[in-house]
Amino acid sequence: MFYFDKINGKKVLKSSLLDSGYFTTRGFESKDIPLESGRLIKPEQTHSDHVEFVGKRTEYPNTDGLVLTTPEDTIYLRFADCTPLIFYDKKQKIGAVSHAGWRGTAASIGVKTIQKMGSNPDDIIAVIGPAISGCCYEVSEEVRDALLKTVKNTSGLYTNRNVDLKQINARQLEEIGVKTIDICPYCTSCNNDLFYSYRKENGTSNRHFAVLKLS
Ligand SMILES: [Zn+2]
Repeated sequence: MFYFDKINGKKVLKSSLLDSGYFTTRGFESKDIPLESGRLIKPEQTHSDHVEFVGKRTEYPNTDGLVLTTPEDTIYLRFADCTPLIFYDKKQKIGAVSHAGWRGTAASIGVKTIQKMGSNPDDIIAVIGPAISGCCYEVSEEVRDALLKTVKNTSGLYTNRNVDLKQINARQLEEIGVKTIDICPYCTSCNNDLFYSYRKENGTSNRHFAVLKLS
């Protein structure tokens, strides 16, 4: 279940399954992310399927998934239509955030992130954030087919050339055994008053965030 909360007076979207992560809305800037201690880290996202552990360095070039193992640092990734994935491993008490646009989704970056975490899928809580949904996301046949190839069961994931990236990511996770998945109901294009949409806003450079800090 998703619900709205406020951080620094600004609206954020949270899942009832996860205390440590949230999704921001329009007008929330990186300076609004609360930092009691530690560093604020974001990778240089390139629609890759490359996942890294957060370590001593501060630069993460060509990286679309970050794994966080300590409560000191805060990580965030930036989105406008692409699918944000936040993971938490209850047993290892580590988490991750990944960026799944169509390229990341076609490369199963969510599955790769869980593998990088070394997690048993049973221990994973997966939270899939606001993204452009099946109602608004029309792609080429080539892109649709590349996305559908990543799962065994494709039912309910597309209509003609409209695909639902949130549902495809969820299906990939279900098929490796993740049982606890919360899927955000919001489409970034339909709810452009709340979220940024690259398509609806003709290639806007504004982004909302998926933020994670372990406690
Ligand atoms: Zn829509």
